[in-house]
Amino acid sequence: MVFAHDTRASLIAAVDLVNTAGDPDELGSLEELNAFFDDHEYSGSPPQSEDDVAAVRALRPRLRELITSSRDQAVEQVNTMLREADALPQLVRHSGWDWHLHAVDPDKPLATRVLVETAMAMIDVIRADEMSRFSTCADDGCTGIVLDLSRNRSKRFCSTACGNRHAQASFRARQAEDS
Ligand SMILES: [Zn+2]
Ligand SMILES: [Zn+2]
Repeated sequence: MVFAHDTRASLIAAVDLVNTAGDPDELGSLEELNAFFDDHEYSGSPPQSEDDVAAVRALRPRLRELITSSRDQAVEQVNTMLREADALPQLVRHSGWDWHLHAVDPDKPLATRVLVETAMAMIDVIRADEMSRFSTCADDGCTGIVLDLSRNRSKRFCSTACGNRHAQASFRARQAEDS
């Protein structure tokens, strides 16, 4: 396994969050933010208001920049994020997970927690020199982010839909060549 469980979970959540910023936007309401919160098994208090929705939506460009940066640029952003949020690493054990790091109070707004958890996870990515785990979707015109945690680094598409669309397009192109 490339990364510890909590690091993987935070990276997957960050990429899924960035990828909600499509057309249509998949994070338009408090209901959708709550579903996102549940899907990714965040601990701490759930999102409360439209302010949380706005704050989490506003994080997306920042997280996209962070995970698509060079390693050295990512270091600067991680350090800024941790400083800005007064992050304080503490070992915690909860919900069946053995000792792992949290660096932000569970009562802080969700956007702050997502920011700090992503920054903490990126520490592992940077230290392991694994920024290449992130890429942009190989489907033409899709700007989705791909997180490839597979051993053989075979993941190229941000979603099954993009993979299928690409396969169909290649199939049609081959048929056109044959005829
Ligand atoms: Zn935890
Ligand atoms: Zn895609």
